[in-house]
Amino acid sequence: MNNAVVKIPEAYNEPIKEYLPASTETKRLKGELNRQLSLTVEIPVIINGERIKTGKTDVVQCPHDHGHVLATYHNASEVHVKKAISSALEAKRKWELMPWNQRAAIFLKAADLISQKYSSRLNAATMLGQSKNVFQAEIDATCELVDFLRYNVKFMEDIYRNQPLSEKGIWNRMEYRALEGFVFALTPFNFTAIAGNLCSAPALMGNSVVWKPSSAALLSGYYLMEIFMEAGLPDGVINFIPGNGAMISDIVLNHRDLAGIHFTGSTAVFNSLWEKIGENISKYRSYPAIVGETGGKDYIFMHPSANTNQVVTAAIRGAFEYQGQKCSACSRMYIPESRWGEFKKTLVSEMQTIQMGSVMEFKNFVNAVIDEPSFARICGYIKRAQKADGVEVLTGGTFDDSKGYFVDPTVLVVKDPEYETMTREIFGPVLSIYVYPDEQLDQTLDLVDKTSEYALTGGVFASDRQAIADMETRLSNSAGNFYINDKPTGAVVGRQPFGGARGSGTNDKAGSLMNLLRWVSPRTIKENFVPPEDYQYPFMGE
Ligand code: NAD
Repeated sequence: MNNAVVKIPEAYNEPIKEYLPASTETKRLKGELNRQLSLTVEIPVIINGERIKTGKTDVVQCPHDHGHVLATYHNASEVHVKKAISSALEAKRKWELMPWNQRAAIFLKAADLISQKYSSRLNAATMLGQSKNVFQAEIDATCELVDFLRYNVKFMEDIYRNQPLSEKGIWNRMEYRALEGFVFALTPFNFTAIAGNLCSAPALMGNSVVWKPSSAALLSGYYLMEIFMEAGLPDGVINFIPGNGAMISDIVLNHRDLAGIHFTGSTAVFNSLWEKIGENISKYRSYPAIVGETGGKDYIFMHPSANTNQVVTAAIRGAFEYQGQKCSACSRMYIPESRWGEFKKTLVSEMQTIQMGSVMEFKNFVNAVIDEPSFARICGYIKRAQKADGVEVLTGGTFDDSKGYFVDPTVLVVKDPEYETMTREIFGPVLSIYVYPDEQLDQTLDLVDKTSEYALTGGVFASDRQAIADMETRLSNSAGNFYINDKPTGAVVGRQPFGGARGSGTNDKAGSLMNLLRWVSPRTIKENFVPPEDYQYPFMGE
């Protein structure tokens, strides 16, 4: 047996490729995009390493061209969900006993496969299947995913190294056991990296996983599952079961051996999962770990001392990159009256330069929203705004789903700071602005804090240091990721651990050691080298 005290390779953030027009990486990616467009992939359910074609199929379309079918996928039925759970429980016996450095090697290998061999494949699948432009795909499906895999290994080592103090004659140790049972990973459509992290983080810590991917991100999800298998993940450690979320959750959350759920998605779905766990609480062997990162209503607050160009740039990138479909997307802004004229002019002129269209044309900053229900929901907000008193449509306001689900980046200026687009998560390219009287700065900061049920991300812009210090304190609970003179999106693994409280989730900080701690159940071991042989204490000698 190899008894070395191993040192894992140093973690580092994956460099972002630029995809300049004639570069090798651009040529390679374009070739891969065309290759994927020429295929109709068949996506099976994968249980215990076995690819199962259930015969109950649906299709994966390009959001920017919904007539184009990229893949057909097989839906899991009840019998497959039960099989996935039993296969996870069976695989866990060996998996949790595998030396941790061997587990680490599998995920480090997956990171390198993604960084090198499969970067184009995952980026292209994310572009075509989830409608991301090349840069958005690169920072997600390659960089963030690789970062999660590399840094999680480092965090695992940090956790295992954390040991209690010992004393003369006593050796205290801490064992970080995997949870007893299986973990359910339920993943969203909007980040390939999040899907990868939600299923792999618990697995890395010795757990086995039933993974229900989003039906709107299946192509990238399937390729990722194949990469994990190629990297050497033993059969059954992660089981991939596309299908109906409600049906799958009903079975999973009713199982005695449910040890935890790792969820990212909407607040409403997370609440329903938590309620179901509450109803079933007496059925479980242990209290399930409940980890959920959910919705946001993220803000930018402009102080009168801020720089206009910086705020406009943050607004456009923060609100409209990936069509506003980031949990961290800026969707409400507060601009001081004294700066409004200048801000408005710069914003409108910049907005006119934004190009929207297919992901195949790299000049497009904005692509399509994910699917028909999203398109309908976002357009509903825009149509109501167009009719509402006290709301001005400053830019955009148009939409077209004849070929793809396109919504023009839309800026609304609202008189009522509690208007629905200031308070509800829209999850689309709609930014609402409230112009506040400069003398009501304090009251407006209260509004920023109290307007929505969420507390995920927020950014303040100012050059006045006292104002920055005051805002940092005043807005302490308004966001789990708080930005000073920066947009509220784009958290980097290992640099800005991510998550928020209130309606935004359990704040277990993806991309940090705190998240991995949720997937272990520590056992304290005290060993006495010289146990006492007489029950009487010295004080009893009186
Ligand atoms: P969603 O809640 O619709 O879906 C998430 C997952 O749950 C999917 O796999 C889906 O199939 C499944 N699901 C849907 N309905 C279900 C039900 N009734 N029972 C069980 N499972 C069900 O979310 P989405 O549209 O995929 O993602 C967008 C949401 O995710 C937004 O609210 C966004 O803010 C949030 N999000 C949050 C973070 C974060 O870190 N806080 C990151 C990304 C996305």
